[in-house]
Amino acid sequence: MKLVHIYIEHAARALNRCFVYNGDGFDLQRGVRVRVLFAHRKVIGFVDHIEEGDPQQYPYQILPVLEVIDESPLISEELFALAKEMEHRCVAPLIRCLQCMLPNQLRPQSGYQKIRMEAYVKAIKKDSSTLTKRQKEVYDELCQQDFKRSVFYAEFKSVGKKLIALGYAQVYEKEMIRQLTTFQQKEPLPLLPMQQHALEMIMHHQKVLLHGVTGSGKTEVFLQCAKQMIAQGKQVLILVPEISLTPQMIQRVSSRFERVAIYHSHLNEQEKYEQYQLVKQGNVDIVVGTRSAVFMPFQNLGLIVMDEEHDNSYKQDRLPRYHCRDIALFRANYHQAKLVLASATPSLESYARALKHHYVLVEMLDRINHTMPTIQLIEMRQALRKQESYLLSDALKEAMQERLERHEQVILLLNRRGYAPVLRCLQCGYVHQCPHCDCAMSYHKEDGVMKCHICGYEMPQPNICPSCGQKIWRYLGIGTQKLEEYVSECFPQAKILRMDADTTSRKHAHEVLLERFGKQQADILIGTQMIAKGLDFENVTLVGIINGDAMLNRNDYRSCELTYHLLQQASGRSGRGSKKGEVYIQCYDSSHYAIEAVVRNDYLHFFVNEMKYRHLGGYPPYRYLCSLLLHGTNENLLEQEGNELKMILQEICGNVKILGPVSLGKQKNEYRIRILLKSKNEDDMIIVAKNALSYSMQKRFKSTLDIDVNPYMME
Ligand code: ADP
Ligand code: ZN
Repeated sequence: MKLVHIYIEHAARALNRCFVYNGDGFDLQRGVRVRVLFAHRKVIGFVDHIEEGDPQQYPYQILPVLEVIDESPLISEELFALAKEMEHRCVAPLIRCLQCMLPNQLRPQSGYQKIRMEAYVKAIKKDSSTLTKRQKEVYDELCQQDFKRSVFYAEFKSVGKKLIALGYAQVYEKEMIRQLTTFQQKEPLPLLPMQQHALEMIMHHQKVLLHGVTGSGKTEVFLQCAKQMIAQGKQVLILVPEISLTPQMIQRVSSRFERVAIYHSHLNEQEKYEQYQLVKQGNVDIVVGTRSAVFMPFQNLGLIVMDEEHDNSYKQDRLPRYHCRDIALFRANYHQAKLVLASATPSLESYARALKHHYVLVEMLDRINHTMPTIQLIEMRQALRKQESYLLSDALKEAMQERLERHEQVILLLNRRGYAPVLRCLQCGYVHQCPHCDCAMSYHKEDGVMKCHICGYEMPQPNICPSCGQKIWRYLGIGTQKLEEYVSECFPQAKILRMDADTTSRKHAHEVLLERFGKQQADILIGTQMIAKGLDFENVTLVGIINGDAMLNRNDYRSCELTYHLLQQASGRSGRGSKKGEVYIQCYDSSHYAIEAVVRNDYLHFFVNEMKYRHLGGYPPYRYLCSLLLHGTNENLLEQEGNELKMILQEICGNVKILGPVSLGKQKNEYRIRILLKSKNEDDMIIVAKNALSYSMQKRFKSTLDIDVNPYMME
């Protein structure tokens, strides 16, 4: 019997293994999807492998495969191997790894959507001598090219229908794949010596970390590198963070290359499917996309560029919790392709690896226009002593006034949306908390509601304090709405745009806002971190950063790195054109090395200090971490299971350190605790994590265990 080993689509972790079916009578290959019965339900699964064998060796009845869905494998050998690697490294069920590689419409979910088809008309080749003159004309035209059915009928009306009736033409269905749009092609820019050097280094090495300040011309370098690879018949993948995939960027790539696919999460399902198929059919030379584009079905990859490689959005925060960089490394190795990691502020891991010669380090530390912005620190404690506003210091206000007079533009960054993060009763000190999470609710003045930024719960602003009945609220802290209100009071003439999660929730709102600012329809752009990256506006000569050090206080080993990235990236938005730029950073803790490094524009200063801190604390890149997060609605049971798990792990952990469990507070009505694994050896750590998982399943834990190997956000 032809025994087929199949991974079936199922959410249960316990089913993370192959089941065997009878494939007699089917032509099957690894990576195709099949339909089978599982527990009396029809489900879809992926074929892992096929062998001739005796069904008697299995203690259960071998059911037949019901149907083969794909003609050719959906998942190539390469991607299958990658899925197995991910299953191991991310401690995730294989089926989930396979699913995340595919656009939704190809995912093996049982209720998968149908691919959209379009009707076409084609000619049937046969003797046409008996046709009338007009029929013959239409027939000849149809022999030249197929027509969409609607077009065919519209153009040839009854003659067309007659040809079909006579059997000279036939309607057929074709998958709807939109053609790629082509842009007016532009010539590459002549490179500066610094860029030329970088290009040569990339062409001569396999793996490069391109450390270049914002505006140093990195994008130009990798576009030209891509051109060379494509000329050699290879494919190119350019990965960018979601937020940087601006129309500007798309246009820039599309005006250099003809066969471009764009892949990001805002495409609808059909669009994603179409882009995917274009790549699969080999009709694309270059893909520009966000995290999930790293799984595109390339056949002959020559170059992967990961722009802004330090960006958090490269880490997926649900199962499988992979990091895009690791996937890019796997694929580059498989295809013997080049890998370029590019950033103005490389992640600590990547820079440390470059220093150890895992990557070749290439630096571009000057801007194309040779003008770095000057950066001023504003000590807010001093400013407050002088009775200045805690929102905008006098110095920043003056600088803004100057820009407005010169018709230059200003960007203000405040990484906190809403009006005020905390609403407190002045009488009794009561703070409004989310009923579902352990956190204060933010006040959003625009809609007059309180919002929880964790679970999204909203409620009207309470009139009176539920605790003491008084009616005097104090708004603590600042969010973008309050800043906007204050700025418009200070500069009543100025046109202001605000960009945060509240103003960009509708589709395309993000692009519309940026376009308006780009066309100089506003003087001041206020926003959260979403304005810090990738934007290139000539006329912006001042960037003001409010509460620049707020993030330093977060309870996360990466908070300094995040602060540094944010400030450095935001600073890079100033003076991108021919005019000189300035940056003002308002903060309370101005002596911190992360802030110092930004002011001095000195990445190494940050790197060296941060590495010391990581070394002392035993954090990455010196140690590997793995988070075992348990969550559930029963607090006592959760605590009990957490302690039990810790005890068991301590027996088997060897050199892996087991920390915790610590309570992380409630979120979305669930209590959460975390056990943290720490180790010098990643493989040892993964083994402990896998043990934790199997133990929790064996003991049928009531709480859910989420495993995150190399977690990014720890709160
Ligand atoms: P980065 O990616 O490092 O931020 P870009 O490649 O976007 O830098 O370049 C910054 C600006 O300089 C862009 O407006 C770009 O068009 C321009 N630029 C880049 N390289 C050159 C060059 N060789 N000659 C002239 N202008 C250039
Ligand atoms: Zn909440």
